[in-house]
This record gives sequence, structure tokens and C-alpha cells, in this order.
Amino acid sequence: MGFSGFRVLKEGLTGNSGWTPQWRDPAPKDEYDIVIIGGGGHGLSAAYYLAREHGLTNVAVLEKGYLGGGNIGRNTTIVRANYFLEGNSQFYSYSMKLWEGLELELNYNVMHSQRGQISLFHSDGQRDVFVRRGNMMRSQGDDAVLLDREGVRKLLPYLDYDNTRFPIYGALYHPRGGTARHDAVAWGYARGADQRGVDLIQNCEVTGIDVANGAVTGVQTTRGAICAKKVGIVVAGRTSQVAAMAGLRLPIESHILQAFVTEGLKPCIDHVISYGMGHFYISQSDKGGLVFGGDLDMYASYAQRGNLPMVEHVMEAGMTLMPMIGKAKVLRSWGGIMDMTPDGSPIIDKTGIDGLYLDCGWCYGGFKAVPASGFSFAHLIATDRPFEAATGFRLDRFRDGYGLMDEEGTGAQHNLH
Ligand SMILES: Cc1cc2nc3c(=O)[nH]c(=O)nc-3n(C[C@H](O)[C@H](O)[C@H](O)COP(=O)(O)OP(=O)(O)OC[C@H]3O[C@@H](n4cnc5c(N)ncnc54)[C@H](O)[C@@H]3O)c2cc1C
Repeated sequence: MGFSGFRVLKEGLTGNSGWTPQWRDPAPKDEYDIVIIGGGGHGLSAAYYLAREHGLTNVAVLEKGYLGGGNIGRNTTIVRANYFLEGNSQFYSYSMKLWEGLELELNYNVMHSQRGQISLFHSDGQRDVFVRRGNMMRSQGDDAVLLDREGVRKLLPYLDYDNTRFPIYGALYHPRGGTARHDAVAWGYARGADQRGVDLIQNCEVTGIDVANGAVTGVQTTRGAICAKKVGIVVAGRTSQVAAMAGLRLPIESHILQAFVTEGLKPCIDHVISYGMGHFYISQSDKGGLVFGGDLDMYASYAQRGNLPMVEHVMEAGMTLMPMIGKAKVLRSWGGIMDMTPDGSPIIDKTGIDGLYLDCGWCYGGFKAVPASGFSFAHLIATDRPFEAATGFRLDRFRDGYGLMDEEGTGAQHNLH
């Protein structure tokens, strides 16, 4: 089923009776060429690009819950390409280019909105760091504009410039940054993969990974055993647990990140604002809710909900930055499980087991990576070679220490990235 303006008009005039389900609900087959574990953003986009780029369609995505019920449907939807370090910067730059063509590519309205992302700085030292970051972004062809305090005030007149916890010195403005509707991204990739013949199997939890003579042979699931020549693990916060099924011990800790949304308000925040010093970022959804979040809950956990001290911390940060937010009522909050690596950068690599591949370690920044991650992971699985823009995301950097990508410069402590 294709989407078009004409179709919407026709369905509107004929009682919306012509819409059909966006993907099939197939029973799992006994055998596939490729099994992807995890029906989140990364798993679905990998399946899509396996079919689209490599013509590989004897593929199943196994999801233990429903498609898009994990972090892909829980994040604060910020999409940006403002990474600094070699390895990360070209990857996220590539991802941004895929984002810019995504709606046409998928024939799906993912509501990608390049409303501009504004990262505030609060000291001379921080300004220097942001200038370097901006230069890096520009040198790879992305956009970055340095704003002084008055420049920020013009765009964001409602911030507190006089009485805030950290005085605002200026900001790095990234006009192509913005947001997208998170679950629509999962649905768009799901529909595209299904249309090309990929089986999307929901309510199918992987409970074991079969390995014989150093090679993967399939998976055990709650819906029976499935044989596969290649298996990709793309389960975000559950990575350590699923990899352990194949005997792998990974350098990943799982931590909770919370997000919040207010009641719907008239448009008041036109950009994405990042206030790193206070651990706070905010945008306004098209429905009008203010969507915001802060830092990790600071202890490892698999609970998909957060703790109250962090709720208080985030509210305080919002209040000191923009006191007007105190008038809004918070409607909902939720948590997601982050797969944190020691350097805060992801892993897209083979494992020591033939045919078993890993795409994980996205920490709290993997939404913006969904297109490029799926593209790169599909390339790796199909060709057994890393995709050019993702060559830095090796697993063995954590063993030998070479090629670590510590964007934040906080050292090997998972929860500080
Ligand atoms: C509150 C919050 C805010 C965030 N904000 C941003 C942001 O603004 N920008 C940004 O870029 N990133 C953000 N992120 C991070 C981003 O959402 C994640 O990095 C990314 O979604 C993770 O990849 P995924 O979509 O594949 O994960 P998920 O959607 O979690 O997919 C993994 C899937 O694997 C399934 N699974 C797990 N175990 C099994 C099993 N045994 N068998 C079968 N299936 C299994 C799960 O059910 C799940 O559906 C945020 C995350 C959270 C929680």
C-alpha cells in the first residue's frame, strides 16, 4: 500500500475503508538465511537495507514484544550530526544525509523536522570546545554557526539570561539538526522491509543462540527453534543478556534514561535546545507537548522506568534555564534501557563466532543513528566487510585500547557518557 496526497483524499471521501495493514503477520519459518534479533529502529532498518541494498530477503526480524516498543518508541527524537571525533563524525554525517532523503525513500511521513539544534555554552573554555566542534562539523560539510549571547537571545528570547545557574555565553547552532517522529521511523522501515519480503515476527523472544564448531547455526525462541546461517544481535539495552546466550561477555552496562512530556501547548519552542551543563534538552512535539530529558539514572538496571531523584534533577534544570516551563503540567514520564559502552561510542562488528554479528552500544544517542546503523550493519552482514563510514566501531578497541572514541572525554566509565 502506497501513501500519497491523492490516496489520503480518496480514503477521506470513502470512509477510510481502503487502508490495509502496513505489514504482514507471518508465522516463523524453520529456516532463514539471516535472522535479526530485535525489532527496534536499528534491527528494522538493517532488515530493510539487507533487502533494499543487497537483495537479501530470506530474512526474519524476531521481536520479543511489538515492533517499536523499545527505545525507538521511547526517545526524545533528537537528530543531529554534531559529533567531533574521527570515526563518529563521518558516521553521523552520513546518517544525516540518509535522514534527509528518508521520507521519499520509505514513502512514509516520519515527520523529520530540521528545526535547528542549539547547544548552549556557559564559559570561555566551553566556547573554545564548541568552536573546535563547529569547525570539525564544517570541515566535513555539515553546518554549524557560532552564536554569541545576543544571537541566542534573538532565537530563544524566553531563556533566563540574568538569573540562571550557569550564565549563557552563547551557543553552537546546527540548523540541520532537529527531530523526527520516533515510532514512525520504526513503522516506515518495517513496512519497507515487509514489502520486500522480510518476515517481521512479533511476540517471539530469542531465548538461546545455537553455536556449533565456532559458527552460529540458529536461535531458540518462544515460538520454536529457527535455523539461520547468519544472526545479528540488535537489542539495545538487552545486548549483554542476549550476547551471553552465545557465551560472549561484552563491555556494556545497561542504564536507565528517562524522558518527560507535558500537556499540549501552543507553539512556543521552535528549536531543539541542549543545555549540557545542566543535563537538560527540550523540544516541542507537533502535538504541542514539551518533550524533554536529562541524564542517566546513574546505576545499572534493566527496569524500564526511572527514579525520582533524577525526575527532580531534570525539573530543576528546566526551571533554571526557562522558568516559564514551571507553568506546564507534566503528563507522562518513562524510561528506556541504554546499552552504554566504556567510550560512549557504538559497536558494529563481527564477533569471534562465525556468522554472529553485533550492532549495539548506542548509549543514549542511537535514534539519530538509525538509518546509518541499519545501512552499515546490513553491509557488514551481507559482505563480511565494514561499511566505510562505520569502520571505527570495532569491538576489539575495548580489548587493545586502540581507536577508542571518547566524545565526552570522561574516561572508561559507562554511566558518564
Ligand atoms: C528516554 C530516551 C531518550 C533518548 N533520546 C534520544 C535522542 O534524543 N536522540 C537519539 O539519537 N537517541 C536517543 N535515545 C537513544 C535511542 O532511543 C536508542 O539508542 C536506540 O533507539 C536504540 O536502538 P533500537 O531502536 O534498535 O532499540 P530498541 O527500540 O530498544 O530495540 C531493541 C529491541 O530488541 C528487542 N529485544 C530485546 N531482547 C530480545 C530478545 N531476547 N528477543 C527478541 N527481541 C528482543 C526489544 O524488545 C526491543 O524492541 C534515547 C533513549 C531514551 C530511552
